[in-house]
Amino acid sequence: MNTVAVGVFSLTLLTGAVIVGAAAMALAAPLYALAYLAVAALLIGTVIAVFCTKCPLRGRGCLHILPGRLAALLPARRGKYTAVEIAVVVAALLLIAAIPQYWLLSQVPLLALFWVLAGTGVFLINRRVCPVCGNRCCPLRPKE
Ligand code: SF4
Repeated sequence: MNTVAVGVFSLTLLTGAVIVGAAAMALAAPLYALAYLAVAALLIGTVIAVFCTKCPLRGRGCLHILPGRLAALLPARRGKYTAVEIAVVVAALLLIAAIPQYWLLSQVPLLALFWVLAGTGVFLINRRVCPVCGNRCCPLRPKE
């Protein structure tokens, strides 16, 4: 599988994890599930606005395709990532993973599926995408 295919596949797995989290919430509180999906979309938009707009691969070069295309709709920014920007991105991603955990804990098969999807997505990005990504300012990029 080439790197772009892995990038798209890993993002699909992470999206699947969010949907599984929303499904667990929907079983108990459908409105909470809708609110979670809206918040997750807002947080992903924040990550794209804060992180991807500084990435030299935004636009057609993005190894995950969609985030780069969306980032290209926003004004490009330059320079290294600041500590605040990294903190915002980490907090946004942790929040997306953390919100559905309360509901997933009472749905063990969905809890397992959530972490298999999320874990595989993160693993593939870390092993197959990050090592060849051209975003030299990314703190996840392996040292050369
Ligand atoms: S490669 Fe660049 S544009 Fe694509 S997701 Fe990563 S940081 Fe965003």
